Amino acid sequence: MSLETRSAPRHPSLSVDDARRCILDRIDPIDGSERIAIRSALGRVLAEAVVAPINVPAHDNSAMDGYAVRADDLSPDAESSLQVVGTAFAGRGFSGIVGKGQAVRIMTGGVMPMGADTIVVQEVVRIEGDRVIAPGGIRRGQNVRRAGEDLAEGAVALPRGKLMGPAELGLVASLGLAEVSVARRLRVAFFSTGDELASIGRPLAPGEVYDSNRYTLHGALTRLGCELLDMGVIPDRPEALEAAFRDAAAASDVVLTTGGVSVGEADFIRELMGRLGEVSFWKIDIKPGRPMAFGRIGSAWMFGLPGNPVAVMVTYYQFVMDALLKLSGLDPLPQRPLVPVPCTTPIRKLAGRREYLRGRIFIEDGTWKVRSAASQGSGVLRSMSEANCFIVLNEDRGDVAPGDTVDVQLFDGLV
Ligand code: AMP
Ligand code: MG
Repeated sequence: MSLETRSAPRHPSLSVDDARRCILDRIDPIDGSERIAIRSALGRVLAEAVVAPINVPAHDNSAMDGYAVRADDLSPDAESSLQVVGTAFAGRGFSGIVGKGQAVRIMTGGVMPMGADTIVVQEVVRIEGDRVIAPGGIRRGQNVRRAGEDLAEGAVALPRGKLMGPAELGLVASLGLAEVSVARRLRVAFFSTGDELASIGRPLAPGEVYDSNRYTLHGALTRLGCELLDMGVIPDRPEALEAAFRDAAAASDVVLTTGGVSVGEADFIRELMGRLGEVSFWKIDIKPGRPMAFGRIGSAWMFGLPGNPVAVMVTYYQFVMDALLKLSGLDPLPQRPLVPVPCTTPIRKLAGRREYLRGRIFIEDGTWKVRSAASQGSGVLRSMSEANCFIVLNEDRGDVAPGDTVDVQLFDGLV
């Protein structure tokens, strides 16, 4: 489907879900991968599946502290007395064979001694001299972890497209592997547009504001492990913007800009984009962040985000971040997970658009609740910093009364 079909003036606005789908459907993972040490792989996406070169665990071993015995020696309904002939520690096994009527003291992780097939946990036995008395009713094979039970040799331990988190680093290490193959870093070029923008390091002239968007994006993109090309502030002049777009697109996989897409300004940028590539201007039924541009310039994807600092963050997290992850080879969820919680503050909400409010979840009387931040202005970055979640109000939702349940999107993931 062409971008224009969805964004032509005849289709003046697009829902958040449609915009997201349109973006994610169009983009495909980039080519190129590199092998890196596992410690460096945090936050990267696997370019190749990790296949287990060994069984995990490598040997049959004990899941508990206790005694390794032969099930045939145990009476099903009465106590059995066995002679303790040695000890098996984790990492230092028992080298003999457990014979008829014998048992070996064994610690968690100890390799199962030859001849034994069952572990009797230490909590249920009695010791009498060099003998251990096991109760009746022990099942054959109880408390034994089998070789390859977690992962069999040759099985796929982690699929291609997996985002590497702490568990994945540990899992790769548990296979004895030192390196993984990951998608190369995405190259993202970004700049701010606006004649009113001043860079930090000098006093503001009348009417100027400091450019904060490049710093917010620097943080967000660094979190994703992107290679960054910060191109600074570009004034609202067609020649300057054209040169910036050309340079950015030639040097990167993705071009991100902020500002200049609202009514009025958009007109000349729209004309410029039309010449440089295939870029559409969307009105999205979202607050904040209504205007947004998306498309392609040369071989680079282009996202023209709004200028207001909070709108930048909302559109980045709802549209751009998952697109960047998909470019790196990850298959994003159709939506970010939402958690329903009661809201303690009233919210005025217009039906027909999706709103992302800054909220703060807190615990009261043992229950998680959320309140909306006092200021919801799309330029108020401070309230973004005070928030710990977005309150997400769907298109069909009207006003929220205190006590009503709302969906929230948490800022922090645990791992
Ligand atoms: P625009 O979308 O260019 O009309 O910008 C909307 C509002 O966001 C205006 O008040 C701009 O001054 C402000 N703004 C745009 N870009 C930035 C930026 N990089 N840093 C801080 N504020 C910005
Ligand atoms: Mg502007």
